[in-house]
Amino acid sequence: MKIGQLLKESKRSISFEFFPPKTPEGEESLFKTIKELEYIKPTFVSVTYGAGGSTRERTIRIVKKIHTQTSLTVMAHQTCIGHTRKEIVDILSEYKSTGVQNILALRGDIPQGQEESFVFPKDGCRYASELVELIIENFGDWFSIGVASYPEGHPESPDLDTDIFYFKKKVEAGAEFSITQMFFDNRYFYSFIEKVHKAGIDIPIIPGIMPVTNFKQIKKFADMCGATIPPELIKKIQPVADRPEEVEKIGIEYAVQQCEDLLKNGVKGLHFYTLNKSKATIKIYEAVKHLI
Ligand code: FAD
Repeated sequence: MKIGQLLKESKRSISFEFFPPKTPEGEESLFKTIKELEYIKPTFVSVTYGAGGSTRERTIRIVKKIHTQTSLTVMAHQTCIGHTRKEIVDILSEYKSTGVQNILALRGDIPQGQEESFVFPKDGCRYASELVELIIENFGDWFSIGVASYPEGHPESPDLDTDIFYFKKKVEAGAEFSITQMFFDNRYFYSFIEKVHKAGIDIPIIPGIMPVTNFKQIKKFADMCGATIPPELIKKIQPVADRPEEVEKIGIEYAVQQCEDLLKNGVKGLHFYTLNKSKATIKIYEAVKHLI
């Protein structure tokens, strides 16, 4: 099923993001997580891709396995900075031959420390908008294409308006929906949506939700992607930072409040960054399902 169409048909979507595990044990545990989450009947699930192509085989295998062995609609993340155009077309051809119809088209993060010196592959795509164009040139409307967006602006962007200008290029190239970077303060999301609408972008934008279950890890992610962690959340978590169960409890309570507020304000869906675990996502879903 194509996600663009599913979003048109559904009032709200629920989706889960996974990463491709490195070991057979990790893979077994991921499929256990998927089984535990399946009862929620998510609109779709997605599988991440290493920016430089490091997870190529693993991402393809997991996407195909979800597509062929579960009832779920799956979306493959595809980054472009580590590949030539031919390599990307080869990967996407493999998805097409299996029947996978959804791609999240991404540039990928430039490796840390190489911001100035990074050499983009010759005959590659420099930006996600070029990747969207490449997909449509080669596969027509076989794939429903999603793209990333950034309520607090992309870290390389000089300001939010410039970032929205380039977000629009991805939509004009053919992206049908977008999933946002994680954020912890809904005010960034609401003001982003207002600006995006003013800029004439009208595709569904699904907020990305990252429940805080490990403060150190989330802080690292948030620093990397430029997401602000609200001082009130830090204040609650810091005193218990070395007590994982308490951190998780506070993180889940916070995410429940965040999701309740988003749902009451009419968001099109919720996309959970699961980190391949089901517990936090299930708790949040159960607490807010009456609003979905
Ligand atoms: P782009 O849309 O190309 O934007 C990158 C930067 O360039 C932005 O600052 C933008 O404003 C600017 N820009 C865009 N076009 C132009 C132009 N023509 N001229 C000048 N500037 C321009 N990373 C992974 O490696 N693997 C994943 O699986 C993955 N999944 C993700 C899922 C979601 C929901 C999100 C939000 C992000 C994900 N990322 C993933 C991270 C993403 O790859 C990085 O944020 C990356 O730095 C930017 O990717 P993009 O597709 O947004 O790039």
